[in-house]
Amino acid sequence: MERLALCSKVLYDRDILEKQRRIIELEKKVTPPKIRFKGYEDWERFKTEMYRDVHVVLEKMVIDNHFEYEHMSYQGLTFRQENALTECVYEHLYKGTNNGEWSEKIANDTVYSLRTMFASLHKTQLWAFIYQLLRPEDISELIYEHVRWYLDDDSHSPCVIEDLPEFVCDTCHAIVDYVNETQMCIECEIISCYEHRT
Ligand SMILES: [Zn+2]
Repeated sequence: MERLALCSKVLYDRDILEKQRRIIELEKKVTPPKIRFKGYEDWERFKTEMYRDVHVVLEKMVIDNHFEYEHMSYQGLTFRQENALTECVYEHLYKGTNNGEWSEKIANDTVYSLRTMFASLHKTQLWAFIYQLLRPEDISELIYEHVRWYLDDDSHSPCVIEDLPEFVCDTCHAIVDYVNETQMCIECEIISCYEHRT
Protein backbone atom coordinates (compact mmCIF):
# COMPACT_ATOMS: atom_id res chain seq x y z
CA MET A 1 0.00 0.00 0.00
CA GLU A 2 2.84 2.33 0.90
CA ARG A 3 4.54 1.57 -2.42
CA LEU A 4 1.31 2.37 -4.25
CA ALA A 5 1.00 5.70 -2.44
CA LEU A 6 4.64 6.52 -3.22
CA CYS A 7 4.19 5.57 -6.84
CA SER A 8 1.11 7.74 -7.25
CA LYS A 9 2.91 10.63 -5.53
CA VAL A 10 5.81 10.34 -7.99
CA LEU A 11 3.37 10.32 -10.90
CA TYR A 12 1.52 13.28 -9.43
CA ASP A 13 4.76 15.27 -8.95
CA ARG A 14 5.84 14.46 -12.46
CA ASP A 15 2.48 15.62 -13.77
CA ILE A 16 2.81 18.91 -11.85
CA LEU A 17 6.34 19.43 -13.19
CA GLU A 18 5.18 18.76 -16.73
CA LYS A 19 2.32 21.26 -16.32
CA GLN A 20 4.70 23.89 -14.91
CA ARG A 21 7.05 23.38 -17.85
CA ARG A 22 4.11 23.79 -20.23
CA ILE A 23 2.96 27.00 -18.48
CA ILE A 24 6.46 28.52 -18.77
CA GLU A 25 6.55 27.55 -22.46
CA LEU A 26 3.13 29.13 -23.10
CA GLU A 27 4.04 32.26 -21.12
CA LYS A 28 7.10 32.66 -23.32
CA LYS A 29 4.88 32.44 -26.38
CA VAL A 30 2.25 34.88 -25.12
CA THR A 31 4.57 37.42 -23.48
CA PRO A 32 6.78 39.18 -25.98
CA PRO A 33 10.42 39.30 -24.87
CA LYS A 34 12.14 42.39 -23.49
CA ILE A 35 15.68 43.65 -23.83
CA ARG A 36 17.09 45.67 -20.93
CA PHE A 37 18.95 48.75 -22.18
CA LYS A 38 20.99 51.16 -20.11
CA GLY A 39 19.54 54.20 -21.81
CA TYR A 40 17.41 55.25 -24.74
CA GLU A 41 20.44 55.81 -26.96
CA ASP A 42 21.42 52.12 -26.50
CA TRP A 43 17.99 51.12 -27.80
CA GLU A 44 18.46 53.49 -30.74
CA ARG A 45 21.90 51.96 -31.37
CA PHE A 46 20.40 48.45 -31.33
CA LYS A 47 17.96 49.42 -34.08
CA THR A 48 20.55 51.39 -36.07
CA GLU A 49 22.89 48.38 -36.13
CA MET A 50 20.09 46.07 -37.29
CA TYR A 51 18.98 48.47 -40.04
CA ARG A 52 22.59 49.04 -41.11
CA ASP A 53 22.95 45.29 -41.65
CA VAL A 54 19.61 45.16 -43.50
CA HIS A 55 21.06 47.82 -45.79
CA VAL A 56 24.23 45.75 -46.29
CA VAL A 57 22.08 42.73 -47.26
CA LEU A 58 20.15 44.84 -49.76
CA GLU A 59 23.33 46.26 -51.27
CA LYS A 60 24.64 42.71 -51.68
CA MET A 61 21.42 41.09 -52.86
CA VAL A 62 19.73 43.85 -54.88
CA ILE A 63 22.22 46.52 -55.97
CA ASP A 64 25.38 44.46 -56.52
CA ASN A 65 23.77 41.17 -57.51
CA HIS A 66 22.84 41.30 -61.16
CA PHE A 67 21.53 37.74 -61.22
CA GLU A 68 19.06 38.28 -58.36
CA TYR A 69 18.10 41.70 -59.68
CA GLU A 70 17.17 40.24 -63.09
CA HIS A 71 14.91 37.70 -61.41
CA MET A 72 13.22 40.46 -59.44
CA SER A 73 11.61 41.59 -62.70
CA TYR A 74 9.01 38.82 -62.45
CA GLN A 75 9.42 37.52 -58.86
CA GLY A 76 9.46 40.75 -56.90
CA LEU A 77 11.57 39.66 -53.97
CA THR A 78 13.54 36.49 -54.84
CA PHE A 79 13.90 33.49 -52.52
CA ARG A 80 17.56 34.24 -51.85
CA GLN A 81 16.78 37.85 -51.04
CA GLU A 82 13.94 36.76 -48.74
CA ASN A 83 16.21 34.29 -46.94
CA ALA A 84 19.03 36.79 -46.51
CA LEU A 85 16.66 39.41 -45.06
CA THR A 86 14.95 36.93 -42.74
CA GLU A 87 18.31 35.73 -41.45
CA CYS A 88 19.59 39.26 -40.88
CA VAL A 89 16.54 40.39 -38.86
CA TYR A 90 16.48 37.09 -36.96
CA GLU A 91 20.17 37.31 -35.98
CA HIS A 92 19.78 40.78 -34.50
CA LEU A 93 16.58 40.02 -32.61
CA TYR A 94 17.91 36.72 -31.31
CA LYS A 95 21.18 38.30 -30.21
CA GLY A 96 19.17 40.71 -28.05
CA THR A 97 16.37 38.50 -26.76
CA ASN A 98 17.77 34.96 -26.83
CA ASN A 99 14.23 33.96 -27.83
CA GLY A 100 14.48 31.93 -31.05
CA GLU A 101 10.77 31.34 -31.57
CA TRP A 102 9.80 35.00 -31.21
CA SER A 103 12.75 36.24 -33.30
CA GLU A 104 11.90 33.78 -36.06
CA LYS A 105 8.27 34.87 -36.09
CA ILE A 106 9.10 38.58 -36.29
CA ALA A 107 11.74 38.00 -39.00
CA ASN A 108 9.31 35.86 -41.04
CA ASP A 109 6.48 38.38 -40.58
CA THR A 110 8.74 41.21 -41.75
CA VAL A 111 9.54 39.40 -44.98
CA TYR A 112 5.91 38.31 -45.35
CA SER A 113 4.94 41.96 -45.19
CA LEU A 114 7.38 42.67 -48.05
CA ARG A 115 5.90 39.77 -50.02
CA THR A 116 2.45 41.30 -49.49
CA MET A 117 3.66 44.59 -50.96
CA PHE A 118 5.20 42.89 -54.01
CA ALA A 119 2.15 40.65 -54.48
CA SER A 120 -0.19 43.64 -54.56
CA LEU A 121 2.11 45.41 -57.04
CA HIS A 122 1.99 42.28 -59.20
CA LYS A 123 -1.81 41.98 -58.98
CA THR A 124 -2.28 45.55 -60.10
CA GLN A 125 0.38 45.03 -62.80
CA LEU A 126 2.29 47.96 -61.40
CA TRP A 127 5.43 45.99 -60.65
CA ALA A 128 6.58 45.64 -64.28
CA PHE A 129 6.13 49.37 -64.70
CA ILE A 130 7.97 50.23 -61.47
CA TYR A 131 10.80 47.79 -62.25
CA GLN A 132 11.39 49.50 -65.60
CA LEU A 133 11.23 52.93 -64.09
CA LEU A 134 13.45 52.55 -61.04
CA ARG A 135 17.15 51.86 -60.51
CA PRO A 136 18.30 48.98 -58.27
CA GLU A 137 19.28 51.61 -55.67
CA ASP A 138 15.69 52.92 -55.59
CA ILE A 139 14.18 49.45 -55.21
CA SER A 140 16.68 48.68 -52.46
CA GLU A 141 15.65 51.91 -50.69
CA LEU A 142 11.97 51.01 -51.06
CA ILE A 143 12.54 47.65 -49.37
CA TYR A 144 14.78 49.21 -46.70
CA GLU A 145 12.22 51.85 -45.72
CA HIS A 146 9.48 49.24 -45.70
CA VAL A 147 11.45 47.08 -43.22
CA ARG A 148 12.27 50.06 -40.99
CA TRP A 149 8.69 51.35 -40.98
CA TYR A 150 7.33 47.87 -40.28
CA LEU A 151 9.68 47.13 -37.36
CA ASP A 152 10.07 50.59 -35.80
CA ASP A 153 11.35 53.75 -37.43
CA ASP A 154 10.27 56.13 -34.63
CA SER A 155 7.67 57.74 -36.87
CA HIS A 156 4.51 55.99 -35.72
CA SER A 157 2.93 53.79 -33.10
CA PRO A 158 2.03 50.97 -32.76
CA CYS A 159 4.81 49.14 -34.56
CA VAL A 160 6.22 45.66 -34.25
CA ILE A 161 9.22 46.01 -31.91
CA GLU A 162 8.32 49.20 -30.01
CA ASP A 163 7.64 47.21 -26.82
CA LEU A 164 10.97 45.42 -26.94
CA PRO A 165 13.08 47.75 -24.77
CA GLU A 166 12.92 48.17 -21.01
CA PHE A 167 14.95 50.47 -18.79
CA VAL A 168 15.65 51.00 -15.10
CA CYS A 169 14.75 54.44 -13.80
CA ASP A 170 17.81 55.95 -12.08
CA THR A 171 15.62 57.76 -9.53
CA CYS A 172 12.99 55.22 -8.37
CA HIS A 173 14.69 52.07 -9.79
CA ALA A 174 11.44 50.86 -11.36
CA ILE A 175 11.64 48.82 -14.58
CA VAL A 176 9.86 50.88 -17.22
CA ASP A 177 9.27 51.07 -20.97
CA TYR A 178 10.58 54.61 -21.29
CA VAL A 179 13.23 56.82 -19.70
CA ASN A 180 14.22 60.34 -20.68
CA GLU A 181 17.77 61.50 -21.47
CA THR A 182 18.55 61.77 -17.75
CA GLN A 183 17.51 58.14 -17.24
CA MET A 184 14.27 59.09 -15.47
CA CYS A 185 10.85 57.42 -15.83
CA ILE A 186 7.78 59.51 -16.71
CA GLU A 187 6.48 59.53 -13.13
CA CYS A 188 9.81 60.74 -11.70
CA GLU A 189 10.06 63.29 -14.52
CA ILE A 190 6.64 64.73 -13.58
CA ILE A 191 7.57 64.83 -9.86
CA SER A 192 10.88 66.52 -10.59
CA CYS A 193 9.17 69.11 -12.83
CA TYR A 194 6.66 69.80 -10.05
CA GLU A 195 9.43 70.11 -7.43
CA HIS A 196 11.36 72.54 -9.60
CA ARG A 197 8.30 74.72 -9.97
CA THR A 198 7.47 74.88 -6.25
ZN1 LIG B 1 11.27 56.65 -11.71
